[in-house]
Amino acid sequence: MERPLACWKGEERYEGEVLPSLTIILKTGGCRHNRCRMCSYRFERYPEGTDLEGALLSQLHWVVQHYPPSGVAIVKLYTSGSFFDPGEVPPRVVEEAARIFWGKLVIAETRPEFVDSERIAAFISAIDSGDYPTPLYVAIGLETTNDSIRQKSIDKGFTFSDFKKAADNARAGGAGIKAYLLLKPLFLTEREALLDMEESIRTVTGIADMISMNPCTVQKHTELEYYWKRGGYRPPYLWSVVSLLLSAPAHITCDPVGGGRARGPHNCGTCDYDIVKAIRDYNLSGNCQTLHQLFSRGCECKEEWERVLSLEKPYCMPLTL
Ligand code: SF4
Ligand SMILES: [Zn+2]
Repeated sequence: MERPLACWKGEERYEGEVLPSLTIILKTGGCRHNRCRMCSYRFERYPEGTDLEGALLSQLHWVVQHYPPSGVAIVKLYTSGSFFDPGEVPPRVVEEAARIFWGKLVIAETRPEFVDSERIAAFISAIDSGDYPTPLYVAIGLETTNDSIRQKSIDKGFTFSDFKKAADNARAGGAGIKAYLLLKPLFLTEREALLDMEESIRTVTGIADMISMNPCTVQKHTELEYYWKRGGYRPPYLWSVVSLLLSAPAHITCDPVGGGRARGPHNCGTCDYDIVKAIRDYNLSGNCQTLHQLFSRGCECKEEWERVLSLEKPYCMPLTL
């Protein structure tokens, strides 16, 4: 039997309530774009010629056996690319996922070019039990609302206007929108990254129903790792993460993967654990009191962070060719 890349049960905050969730990362035919500078998920793919439909159905049945969905309210479906790319996840698999997760609130990740309102509507009618007004949220890794940064620092291959079109298509099909934003992609100073995230949160609020901020981590065998190994990149400070969460106009979630480690968002090593824990607690409670306390108490490294914000100089890119 095939296993997914990862699968775990947890909890998610949804409309003021904490609900039991199941997260599944399926191994698929792989991301069609396959070139973002910080991404190693794209290497997780079956070789060409694999019976994708059979392999993916087998993974879904493994999930049902090992993580029975009864009692779960929210199901988060990720792939090593786009759940709604029929070349990556065959339609029969999408149908089977809808059958298995009928009655759940599903969040499924995809690139914008695969958001087709008819397919979205068909998926919703297959999972909808009437329990949730919006049974599906289409999650898109927008990363930033700034097209130049998305293109030059990430090489994401789509524009903000593509994202907005996809959001319209998802809504036309009856789905909600979740946007993932990336804090501090390659080539940005800490301050540029902070300003870019503030601007992105402001701009995408009102377009997306849910916003999740991902502080950048250095994944293996990526271009980002190449620069990091040569001292050309530092993941964001946890102080940047906290200050953004505290100043956001609404509750945004944040999973500080690798928090406190050299490859993940980190401070000095002494204050990291408490901050990462407070961020995780804030995701569920929506109460930012502990984050406020930690931020005002500070640490020796908070001055370092402030110095970095004021002194770090960007390596400018030419505006013209
Ligand atoms: S970040 Fe997403 S779109 Fe970019 S290569 Fe990775 S899986 Fe593909
Ligand atoms: Zn510290």
